[in-house]
Amino acid sequence: MKFTGENIVEFTAQFADDMTCYAYLSDHKWSNGYTCPKCGHTKFTVRKKNLARDCNKCHHIESPTAGTMFHKLRFGIRKAFLIIFEMTATTKGLSASQVAKRYGISRQTAWAFMHRVRLAMQSSRKHPLTGQVQVDEFVFGGKETLKQGRSTDSKKKKIVGAVEINKNGKIKRTYFKRIEDYSSASLKGIFDDHISASDKIFTDKWKGYLPLCKKYHIEQKYSEKGGSMKQMHTFIHQLKSWLRSIYSWVHEEHIEKYLDEYSFRINRSIFKQTIFDMLIQRMVSGKPITYQMIIISN
Ligand SMILES: [Zn+2]
Repeated sequence: MKFTGENIVEFTAQFADDMTCYAYLSDHKWSNGYTCPKCGHTKFTVRKKNLARDCNKCHHIESPTAGTMFHKLRFGIRKAFLIIFEMTATTKGLSASQVAKRYGISRQTAWAFMHRVRLAMQSSRKHPLTGQVQVDEFVFGGKETLKQGRSTDSKKKKIVGAVEINKNGKIKRTYFKRIEDYSSASLKGIFDDHISASDKIFTDKWKGYLPLCKKYHIEQKYSEKGGSMKQMHTFIHQLKSWLRSIYSWVHEEHIEKYLDEYSFRINRSIFKQTIFDMLIQRMVSGKPITYQMIIISN
């Protein structure tokens, strides 16, 4: 049965033990039927231990977690489900140390698993922002200064963000990307990945946006005092205070993953009922993630 909602009592009742979690994964993994990956046979026997499927012809055994983002999980599957649930339900963000304590696992194990979940939260790039979009850049980390403008401080992480504004002037969806500099080539990424070319896009007067005007419908405005892009500036302010609140445990080189987590919750907030199920689905259809892959995927 598909889990919906945000109620932790209902959640723990539905996922009372490892077996119910394995059954849930099986339902997702083999929703279109079972085919043995080795010989193509379609009949199987279910193993009692973890609901692995044993091919009736070649006896290849495949667990519900094999070949998925749960591959080689270093703790019980029920703990994994609970951590994912908490990560989707929180608005503040959870630190690896908190999770380690609460679930009796090492901090490093918690950290690596949570990054797997963040990778599953990454945008599919299938739903570009539409309508009215605002784009702006900001920096995070290093020494905080009151100076406005494009910092060239190499210790600061440069980020470009885009928000979709709905008819009521509220932020509907958002995406972020870390950039190396403020050149057109760097700024282009968020446009190509996350913004539809037919939209009306607002930026400030920075010359880096100029070459992008050929392909995108950009209107450049002065952004002094935040008048023309109020929603975006308020939003960046909120995001930065969130980043500062979790700053003690954010590894700056992984900042994009935390930004993905933040966007995922905002973009999915109208689908709160199904956010957990959707993430499980993504993790089951995703490929195994190794520790090495997490380290290099900045
Ligand atoms: Zn087989």
